[in-house]
Amino acid sequence: MTDALFPRSFRKGVPTAVRGDGCYLITSDGRRILDAAGSAAVVSIGHGRHEVTDAIAAQGRSLAFAHTSQFQTEIAERLAQRLRSLAPPSFRDAGRVFFTSGGSEATETALKLARFYHVERGEPQRVRILARRQSYHGSTLGAMAVSGNVARRAPYLPLLQDWGHIAPCYCYRCPFEKTFPQCNLACAHDLETELQRVDPKTVAAFIFEPLSGATLGAAEPPDGYVQTIADICRRHGILLIADEVMTGMGRTGANFAVYHWSVSPDMILVGKGIASGYAPLGGVIAAPHVADAIATGSGAFPHGFTYQAHPLAMAASHAVLDILEREKLFARVNSAGAALRRALDPIAKSPIVGDIRGRGLLFGVEFVRDGKSRAPFLASAGIAERVRQICYDQNVAVYPIQGCVDGKDGDHVLLAPPFTLGDAEISQIAAALQAAVAQISS
Ligand code: PLP
Repeated sequence: MTDALFPRSFRKGVPTAVRGDGCYLITSDGRRILDAAGSAAVVSIGHGRHEVTDAIAAQGRSLAFAHTSQFQTEIAERLAQRLRSLAPPSFRDAGRVFFTSGGSEATETALKLARFYHVERGEPQRVRILARRQSYHGSTLGAMAVSGNVARRAPYLPLLQDWGHIAPCYCYRCPFEKTFPQCNLACAHDLETELQRVDPKTVAAFIFEPLSGATLGAAEPPDGYVQTIADICRRHGILLIADEVMTGMGRTGANFAVYHWSVSPDMILVGKGIASGYAPLGGVIAAPHVADAIATGSGAFPHGFTYQAHPLAMAASHAVLDILEREKLFARVNSAGAALRRALDPIAKSPIVGDIRGRGLLFGVEFVRDGKSRAPFLASAGIAERVRQICYDQNVAVYPIQGCVDGKDGDHVLLAPPFTLGDAEISQIAAALQAAVAQISS
């Protein structure tokens, strides 16, 4: 237990990590723990890559910091160019990147940018940002306001704006109790329903995770969902914000998950994998028309952070991108992901494994009390945490989450290992989950 450090939990201690090595974290008691969740879908190139820490040190020796209100840096401009070239074609020539120190700051930036875009264009009545129930966009107050996870919002509700949430896209537990394709994408059309309820002319943007991240455990939209959402937004002059903090930077087997459905949003949020955990970094990639509205309007976006575009974080991200490119790791995600998914086949047959879902190297495994009725375990049974503990006993770290059913009930774990994982690590993850399923079933 810590003494001075404010811990995430005062009740539950966590091991002390002392070193990182490839897919493993080494603890102070000498255990090698396989980082099967990439910490929290963060680590793509693996731990302990000295090229990255050397690049950070070299940057620090020449220039550690300069405030962006007074200076620009060449390293930030080059990283912005690299990032927008990974985005869909509409971003590539004239998109603009606003760097932050993480995903929540990226969400805050996008919410304010969406609002300011409409102010600049003479539509100041557009004040709402719509989002989905059971979503997660970060822990700052603006990000919490759009996040739709009931439990995480509950203590802070009086502080949060209530702009409106639509149904999640969660086929395993369809909120409309329908099945694809007969559902006719009712969850996407719920956006139109909500727009009519609140008046579409008051809406600035819609924010969504192309694959639901932590809170729904990699729930994937069916074909047509993302395109339908994008069409509705365009029709009403509403900006579409794809929160790819978790799904971006190759995690789902494409540069960004929106590629899977050939959709170009107006902003893409990045974080986590952008620096693979070597530095706190996030960002907003804004489409040209979004930046232009400000460039040709008032000329300045009234928003900023002291540490935006921090040179050390820029150096980390360049070095991470160099490794991703040189070692062709984006291309590895699909083959490694397919192998991991196959290795999970044996547990998929267990009556307590309700669903295994996801794409690339982002998977959710949902546990149920009864496979037929899909009834969840009681929240008090703490099944996700038990799975985490059993896996940890096998030296495998998975990311446990509760509340996928309604914000309270429902248990799943997230798997999002480094893109470098090999056959031995895949077998170790599958064996640990098998042990968890066997122990919980008995
Ligand atoms: N958006 C999504 C989709 C996330 O998964 C997260 C973090 O889990 C965030 C935003 C917030 O990012 P951060 O924790 O870096 O502030």
